[in-house]
Amino acid sequence: MNGTHSAVVTLPLARVISVMVTDDTLSVDLEDGRTISVPIGWYPRLTHGTPAERANFQITGAGYAIHWPDLDEDIGVEGLLLGRKSTESPPSFERWLKRPRNLLASQFGQAPSGMLYSLSTPESGILDETKREKREKKRERRTAMAEYRKHKGSDTWHWCRNCSHWPTSNYDTSQTKPSSGELCNQCKAKDAAGECKK
Ligand SMILES: [Zn+2]
Repeated sequence: MNGTHSAVVTLPLARVISVMVTDDTLSVDLEDGRTISVPIGWYPRLTHGTPAERANFQITGAGYAIHWPDLDEDIGVEGLLLGRKSTESPPSFERWLKRPRNLLASQFGQAPSGMLYSLSTPESGILDETKREKREKKRERRTAMAEYRKHKGSDTWHWCRNCSHWPTSNYDTSQTKPSSGELCNQCKAKDAAGECKK
């Protein structure tokens, strides 16, 4: 296996018939009699979920995936059989930890199963993971949008486009918070007042 999912390999998949999550183990019973048990630590979202959130799952993807709406987590039978751990990036997980819980519940809680995930073949478990990664990347891009600028020859960094000193020509730029130089007082004030346009 080299990550390109060779077409020669066929994995005998079976549908999920029941799911049990304890404090340390995720156990999934399959229709062909197998039970897969994996450490819950492989899936940080499950680890951090409450017992109620963990117990609220839907069997999706035509029976080949499990979705936890409160935790926005989904795990496919294929991933379980391959021993694939969650590949969520630490920054993405950090954001998830800080999420407003009620909002999430109202966003995903009422979604009918099968609507968010339109899996029809066992292979699409892979697509499902890719879709989530894309979604996470989009979120990361949104939060990394602030740009710092300073006039060439000046020491003061600006990051609010509505600052009266916002450089529009002949400037240096930084995508991360600069570690040298000064931070503009007007930008700071706008930030504090929530009026900073980034
Ligand atoms: Zn400024």
